[in-house]
Amino acid sequence: MDLNLESPVRFIPHVGPVMATRVERLGIYTVEDLLYHIPFRYDDFSLVSPINRVQPGETVTVTGVVESMKAFYTKTGKKVQEARVSDQTGRLTVVWFNQPYLIKVIHEGDTIHLSGNIAWFGSKLVMMSPQYEIISAQGGESLHTGRLVPVYPETEGVSSKWLRSRIAFLLTGFIAQLQDYLPPQVIKKQGLMELQTALSAVHFPKTLSEASMGKRRLAFDELLLLQLRSLEQKRMRENTEHSYQLTTPKERIKTFLNTLPFTLTGDQTKSINEILSDLARSIPANRLLEGDVGSGKTVVAAVAMYTAYSGGYQSILMAPTQILAEQHFETIQKLLTPLNVPVDLMTGNKKTITKSRKSASIIVGTHALLSDAISYKKLALVVVDEQHRFGVEQRAKLMEKNPDGMTPHLLTMTATPIPRTLAKTVFGSLDLSVLGEMPKGRQKIKTWVIPEEKRKNAYTWIKKQINETGAQVFIICPLIDESEALSEVKAVKEEYKKLQKEFTGLSIGLLHGKLKPNEKTNVIADFRAKKYSILVATPVVEVGIDIPNAAIMLIEGADRFGLGQLHQLRGRVGRGSLQSYCFLFTQADDEKTTTRLKALETLHDGPALAEVDLKLRGPGEIFGTRQHGVPNLKIAAFTDISTINNTHNAALELMNDTNGLNAFPLLREKLERSKIQEDLRQD
Ligand code: ADP
Ligand code: MG
Repeated sequence: MDLNLESPVRFIPHVGPVMATRVERLGIYTVEDLLYHIPFRYDDFSLVSPINRVQPGETVTVTGVVESMKAFYTKTGKKVQEARVSDQTGRLTVVWFNQPYLIKVIHEGDTIHLSGNIAWFGSKLVMMSPQYEIISAQGGESLHTGRLVPVYPETEGVSSKWLRSRIAFLLTGFIAQLQDYLPPQVIKKQGLMELQTALSAVHFPKTLSEASMGKRRLAFDELLLLQLRSLEQKRMRENTEHSYQLTTPKERIKTFLNTLPFTLTGDQTKSINEILSDLARSIPANRLLEGDVGSGKTVVAAVAMYTAYSGGYQSILMAPTQILAEQHFETIQKLLTPLNVPVDLMTGNKKTITKSRKSASIIVGTHALLSDAISYKKLALVVVDEQHRFGVEQRAKLMEKNPDGMTPHLLTMTATPIPRTLAKTVFGSLDLSVLGEMPKGRQKIKTWVIPEEKRKNAYTWIKKQINETGAQVFIICPLIDESEALSEVKAVKEEYKKLQKEFTGLSIGLLHGKLKPNEKTNVIADFRAKKYSILVATPVVEVGIDIPNAAIMLIEGADRFGLGQLHQLRGRVGRGSLQSYCFLFTQADDEKTTTRLKALETLHDGPALAEVDLKLRGPGEIFGTRQHGVPNLKIAAFTDISTINNTHNAALELMNDTNGLNAFPLLREKLERSKIQEDLRQD
């Protein structure tokens, strides 16, 4: 039967239905999947030695004839298989443990390659548990010995040896018919290997540098496809969806800005301009406003909403929790009341939307804003704060909200410092505005990792600080797995009791995820009103909470957080005029953890910290498992900035070709296939 890339693996000779089901556990369904199953390392068996030259401690390959093969038990009851193999220079004993089937596979008289370690066994030099390869009558190149041997991710019943031989079959018999889908000009410009060469080099390299050249080509492809996909989505949206064109005279914006008690930073002005030019188009905007905690995103959003209002349109600002919605409501109200713009609040619990103001142009709220009960008349702009789960379905829902089918412009705000490298790939369909510059006069939050033996001193210092300056304190309890939400509450309650004893005479509040929304609101309100000196909280103390008098933050179990998260948590202090402090405690006392946490002592901007985390822990850790849409890269790495940049530019060039991707049918076909594979993997 003729194989093609999409053929199920069971049609490959010597695979069959049983092995096919097993390899599915490795995510391998098709011939193509198997070809792209990449070794995670290579065993270097390339040192070929005559038997009389082998040295203890060496990893070598020898070739000889099997003189005898037998099995026996050691005194301790271990099953041993032992072969005696000779070449023209001498004789070598070879042992395996607990592999009884070898007796049936290796026979007297076979010519065999053996690759493995030489060691003392009793008083004899032997080769221990080597890889073996019986040389067939017709000869041929060796796969498992005598070379750099690929070692693959395995699963039960699927060994590297098996994978190696099936992949080798595809490489010799099949890939000759593969056409390279990358346009030649790209290959040339990027100095890449051809596809066939790259696949061979990755699986059976002659040298490690050849392997890495091959890998470089495949990594390039993986990232390029990702880029193409997100660029295409963007184009598609732009061609099929339409939005209201929102413009407002520059003077009105100026008037608004003049009411502010501060002047905008350069980045705020730049972002506002970018957003205003988005809004003026009939193409739906999809922009991410990224700015570190305290960088002033809210006012930027307010300008956008004000612009919609001026044109007679509705806009909404959606926050992830009730507390944050209420806080935003107050802020936006303060900003826009001087201009006589009505602002309303809409959460699960609270609605200030009165009948007469149903057509209110600006509404701040929670997910309640999406509920079916609410209809909008001319919803032109949706602003989302810190909501990673606001995805495709919600977008679709909002699209239906407008009776005339117009799509609202979308502006998402985040303090999660998405490294540019990641933004360019995963979020390639988003436009990005960055507030990299902090408003003037922001103080640095003095941060220290505190060793356990100094805990008492820290508590004493905090007490003194509370008494002398009236500063308020956050104490954050460690993050516990989502599945253990209950024990998180238990842990925080215990800590609360302990701290009440520690800080006698001071009032302490308690905030955790299991409180009802209005209970949470009350605790926060009481803390803001200075009824408590200390607030003990789980990490639910939401990102944006603004308590200007809070100047000290103590974080327990700091090692459980990403650096970006810690940075956001510490952003809860340092919002007022008091010098602010952050103390980090950790139970882990390994050097790696301490080094990682100490980065917070010297680095004070989110993006820099995120890059550190990205290098040390990978993208999953930055976003947590909850962040969807961050694909699992198989070959490439999100830390490979230069390939990310190169593929980004290459994707743009290809898309901008006169005929777009249609000019490259092979590439288009590959892209479609990669979408299907992605879907398969997600099921
Ligand atoms: P975030 O980006 O974390 O949401 P906010 O929008 O809450 O930040 O702004 C934090 C604080 O900084 C607010 O009190 C806001 O009024 C103030 N602020 C915003 N922009 C400026 C600026 N350009 N100069 C001074 N203060 C500013
Ligand atoms: Mg904010």
